[in-house]
Amino acid sequence: MAEEVIKNLSENAEGDNTPSRHFIEQAIDKDLAEGVYDHVHTRFPPEPNGFLHIGHAKSILLNYGMAQEYGGKFNMRFDDTNPTKEKAEFMDSIIEDVKWLGADYEDRLFHASDYFDEMYEDAIKLIKKGKAYVSELSAEEMREYRGTLTEPGKEDPNRNRSVEENLKLFEDMKNGKFEDGSATLRAKIDMASPNINMRDPIIYRVAHMTHARTGDKWCIYPMYDFAHPIEDAIEGITHSLCTLEFEDHRPLYDWVKEECEYKNPPRQIEFAKLYLNNVVTGKRYIKRLVEDGIVDGWDDPRLVTIASLRRRGFTPESIKMFVDMCGISKANSTAEYAMLEYCIREDLKLKSKRMLAILDPVKLIIDNYPEGQTELLDIENNKEVPEMGSRKVPFGKELYIEREDFMEEPPKKYFRLFPGNEVRLMNAYFVTCTSFVKDETGKVTEIHCTYDPATKGGDSPDGRKVKGTIHWVSAKEAATCEVRLYENIIDEEKGVYNEDGSLNLNPNSIKVIKDAKLEPELANAAPYDKFQFVRNGFFSVDSKDSKPGAPVFNRIVSLKSSFVVPKK
Ligand code: ATP
Ligand code: MG
Repeated sequence: MAEEVIKNLSENAEGDNTPSRHFIEQAIDKDLAEGVYDHVHTRFPPEPNGFLHIGHAKSILLNYGMAQEYGGKFNMRFDDTNPTKEKAEFMDSIIEDVKWLGADYEDRLFHASDYFDEMYEDAIKLIKKGKAYVSELSAEEMREYRGTLTEPGKEDPNRNRSVEENLKLFEDMKNGKFEDGSATLRAKIDMASPNINMRDPIIYRVAHMTHARTGDKWCIYPMYDFAHPIEDAIEGITHSLCTLEFEDHRPLYDWVKEECEYKNPPRQIEFAKLYLNNVVTGKRYIKRLVEDGIVDGWDDPRLVTIASLRRRGFTPESIKMFVDMCGISKANSTAEYAMLEYCIREDLKLKSKRMLAILDPVKLIIDNYPEGQTELLDIENNKEVPEMGSRKVPFGKELYIEREDFMEEPPKKYFRLFPGNEVRLMNAYFVTCTSFVKDETGKVTEIHCTYDPATKGGDSPDGRKVKGTIHWVSAKEAATCEVRLYENIIDEEKGVYNEDGSLNLNPNSIKVIKDAKLEPELANAAPYDKFQFVRNGFFSVDSKDSKPGAPVFNRIVSLKSSFVVPKK
């Protein structure tokens, strides 16, 4: 079904069954046909300054997917040219996420910092060609000189220094003779260019900082726009796929690769970012939520970092399905979180066992059931997948049912338990409610019923029908576990951001149930095990807070969907 949806979504406009090829595939097809490249080599280049999120998953799966589709190679590369924000913790999490998504880079793990020597040599090459110069403008002056969209920029007073002087000064920069911010190396391109990125962009800056990998070897660091094409070229990347905000930087990307004279230079192609409506993805915001202790780390199950999604219980398959449904395009758009939920339901519904679990328990006592007796009822693991077999579930005189499955005074169309009404206990027996007990606060503490032994298995031999079916667990054998239910961390009514830029948080984004009553075999569930809890949704065992014999369950998603599969 899910594959069908995706296939339909990607079918081309003529309605025939050849799936349409997105614009990146078309560009690659053309390059291969024209002999621009004879193979495909892509990369994923994260900056290790935070955890990856669902948007990065799109980039990972696209880059990896293109390499796969064309029998090419895929590199994993840390873009670690900015030592201030980078942390080893982030590198570890990024590697884990990329592997988990199945993007196998084999032994091709690289670091942009491995190429600092080549970048430095390239800068010297540019200086020698008269294509770069040392500037001593302050950041503020630089801004003034840059001009605006309607006015050209002004030339740097040092734009026409001699090659020798530039070489000497650049070496001084490298040797620590300049303070941070007091000198830069600029590419000499065109101060009147309508594209501001081409107005003599800075390609090296002075920063006296210790780098995680190169230590104190360098006190000058290359700027992204200069470093990136060189990284790609050195690794032999053919198609450098990046997001739309780099479109205006492409002329600079091309300028660098040409002026540095790389053979078989890579080609940059931009695609639209993946945005989710009413969901926080910005690293800046997530960082603040983590630092303010509002969430339990970068992998809090309410976030959409890849680590959070994994901890919540999403599967790589569901994320891939989601990214595929979003499609690859040049136009920015936002996807609904409900679509991601749809994908995990689709993925799990035929893979996971359907278990009995009571989240808000109240006792149900069968007065005419033999005292002390336990029956083992055979229950199918998944009605839709007979191959998944069945299991034995204990049933006895005292059960737990969901509190909302009983009402003292039912409204019309309430078919579950109320005094005098008969319902089916799922896969077990018909029971008829006879009485109930309340405590002094008016809370129902016990419900009493009688059962009909002839209805074993959930059907009556006389053809008697009941309208309600409820689930249950045996009180004596039940496992008592913690279950966590989630809502969006953002208050959707108010939108993501307040006027002051802070987030509109939903105070009810997590609900912790300490004493859910689950069928006994769930006590042995291990981290990441996933189940459907009948009527309550899909759940996954939390990887951080579970202990052997005491799993904590995260609700991934409820069973109800608000998502409508789009038609072509
Ligand atoms: P920041 O969140 O600080 O702006 P970033 O998201 O750009 O950073 P990078 O580590 O530079 O983080 O991203 C690595 C790659 O992932 C880049 O090629 C980037 O274009 C891509 N990427 C980032 N966000 C998205 C997104 N929402 N959708 C698709 N691709 C994305
Ligand atoms: Mg970035």
